[in-house]
Amino acid sequence: MSNCLFCRIVAGEIPAKIAYEDDDVIAFHDLNPQAPLHVLVIPRKHIATINDIQPDDAALIGKLYLAAKQVAADAGYADDGYRVVMNCGADAGQSVFHIHLHVLAGRHLSWPPG
Ligand code: C5P
Repeated sequence: MSNCLFCRIVAGEIPAKIAYEDDDVIAFHDLNPQAPLHVLVIPRKHIATINDIQPDDAALIGKLYLAAKQVAADAGYADDGYRVVMNCGADAGQSVFHIHLHVLAGRHLSWPPG
């Protein structure tokens, strides 16, 4: 989708600091980090929200989590812990409508989130 910010990052039209990439997934550092490590893991394929995930996407969603694990490990947070979260819809705080896992680490993360 040409008007999707994250599709434009996938296409290389908008620069991003890449943390991980493969044929299906890209991970890049959030522009407004909420923790010492704050990386977004996205599928190259445009999927707007969790509500738009289809059964055929099951393997792709698994790859997002594998990439999140890799990003956290590469940054040295595998043992101390990290949070992986995906917002769905406006009330949950989703502001970019191309699904993305937030990978957050490097400080104590309270629960429940605000
Ligand atoms: O879950 P939500 O949709 O709110 O997350 C979107 C994230 O994308 C935010 O953390 C925001 O800082 C990030 N972002 C970014 N680069 C942009 C626009 C948004 O990293 N150009």
